[in-house]
Amino acid sequence: MTAPADKDTPKTSNFLRQIIEHDLSNQTYAARQWGGSPGDAAHHAAGQTDPAKVRLRFPPEPNGYLHIGHAKSICLNFGLARDYGGVCHLRFDDTNPEKEDTEYVDSIKDAVQWLGFDWHNHGENNLYQASDYFDFMYRAAEYLIETGHAYVDEQSAEQMRVNRGDFVKPGTNSPFRSRTPAENLARFREMRDGKLADGAAVLRAKIDMASPNINMRDPAIYRIRRAHHHNTGDKWCIYPMYTYAHPIEDALEQITHSICTLEFEDQRPFYDWLLDRLAEGGLIATPHPRQYEFARLNLTYVLTSKRKLAQLVTEKRVSGWDDPRMPTIVGLRRRGYTPEALQLFAERIGVTKSDSWIDYSTLEGALRDTLDPIAPRAMAVLDPVKLVLTNWDEVMGAGKLDDCSAPVHPHLPELGKRHFKIGKEVWIESTDYEETPPKGFFRLFPGNKVRLKYGHVIECTGATKDANGKVTEVLATLIPDTKSGTPGSDSVKVKGVITWVGVSDAVQAEVRLYDRLFTEAHPEADGKDFLENLNPSSLSVVTAYVEPSLASATAGKRFQFERHGYFVTDLKDHAAGKAVFNRVTGMKDSWAK
Ligand code: ATP
Ligand code: MG
Repeated sequence: MTAPADKDTPKTSNFLRQIIEHDLSNQTYAARQWGGSPGDAAHHAAGQTDPAKVRLRFPPEPNGYLHIGHAKSICLNFGLARDYGGVCHLRFDDTNPEKEDTEYVDSIKDAVQWLGFDWHNHGENNLYQASDYFDFMYRAAEYLIETGHAYVDEQSAEQMRVNRGDFVKPGTNSPFRSRTPAENLARFREMRDGKLADGAAVLRAKIDMASPNINMRDPAIYRIRRAHHHNTGDKWCIYPMYTYAHPIEDALEQITHSICTLEFEDQRPFYDWLLDRLAEGGLIATPHPRQYEFARLNLTYVLTSKRKLAQLVTEKRVSGWDDPRMPTIVGLRRRGYTPEALQLFAERIGVTKSDSWIDYSTLEGALRDTLDPIAPRAMAVLDPVKLVLTNWDEVMGAGKLDDCSAPVHPHLPELGKRHFKIGKEVWIESTDYEETPPKGFFRLFPGNKVRLKYGHVIECTGATKDANGKVTEVLATLIPDTKSGTPGSDSVKVKGVITWVGVSDAVQAEVRLYDRLFTEAHPEADGKDFLENLNPSSLSVVTAYVEPSLASATAGKRFQFERHGYFVTDLKDHAAGKAVFNRVTGMKDSWAK
């Protein structure tokens, strides 16, 4: 089931598209060479003119499952590469030895592919891991030391913090700042060789302790940390800082446009400072990458932080990373979201340079708009009560069943028809009967006629109730010769049409009705603890009846249940003989105020 959302949705321009179009028309990167793999200036110089017009990258840290915010970034980076004749690299930013896990690496690859993107392009396999660049990062650090652009600082962490100054106060030079390159080089090698304790020294870029941008006040670029790394093992006891590693990763991979979220804006001067130094020294190819920032996705009722999502999982507030209420890509997928819906969502929200909140209904709207044109229809009764057609035996014959049919999709006749049977007893929604109808109620009440959708017109005669007054059966008579699609069937006019499934052929199903995970649009507003506004009714499970055409549905199939919304057979729990459906979203936005 595919909706061509990516091809047919007109692309709205945005500031990133304008930057890329400008660079393409000015041939900013046209002369770049590509050495066939990441590498330094010499490696790329020995290569060919880069077949990719632009190179972008999606650089997750493999420390958790990706969420809807990452989906925005994936659609953005891979989408721009696709639209402008470029490629997008998938790069695991695994320079921090402590947090990574291969479980996350696999889930991230799955998520990117499921969303419809690929890091294989132009015959290249652009899947990289930043830890492969440790050797180069070390070499670049020695180069900075030799050229007087970096020094080993042995102040305590506290002294360093105090001497950094703040927004109003300039920083103070470290007493170690005037060491000679030779002294620094010797000391840095001692750091590398394990002669110093963890935390005893850092390598710092030598820039300007009085800079108004605190990130330019001699940022730390290497620290000592005796930690085993999943890729490099125990080879290193010093590790590069993220702000140092990231620009280098981009440069070695010949990235043209390095797109990141707004919180990195203040890091851009250091990004450029570092790459300018390395370019001067002939270490990296030129022109070097440029960083551009866009506003991260904030979605109402949703948390977009791996760390907080991990807390929901470890505290068992949800059933796991793939709980259908989770905004993780695995959760959204199990909930029934499609790659097409997430791509359309990303396209609709666009990219901006200022933070804002996107309404959750935008995500649901994208799902409806991509599923409505393609999803097979079905009838389902979620809150069943039995309707008995008391004159059935007389007008239709005792024990007889009558065939009904409906299009699989109203606008796709090629999908054919679905078939089901009507008999003396059918399941209807209990809310479709009212003993005393409120104003404007056109469904079942004594004396009123309605049509059973795709079936006959019936007239309600009342209901039987139990000792508590609860309706146990709704009673009606069938009006002969009114079956949908037969001549003269519309001779009896009705105002109401209700959905139903036959007692004889209905399939019993577990239906999981999911709702927002939080009751607050901004789950952490005003310093609130997000755990305090978890929605206590974010999941209700009902026993429903669905039409027989669904008996053979395999896991992960999406349907529109007429009147009710979009549903998917659960990826984990649905099986032959045990139907389990998740509600993706209702037909309309029920949360709109
Ligand atoms: P988290 O805080 O959830 O761990 P992160 O930014 O630390 O997120 P990374 O793995 O470093 O996670 O992110 C990979 C990429 O995804 C980055 O380029 C980042 O800018 C982008 N990204 C992360 N969260 C969002 C978001 N909410 N909206 C848009 N892009 C995002
Ligand atoms: Mg991060």
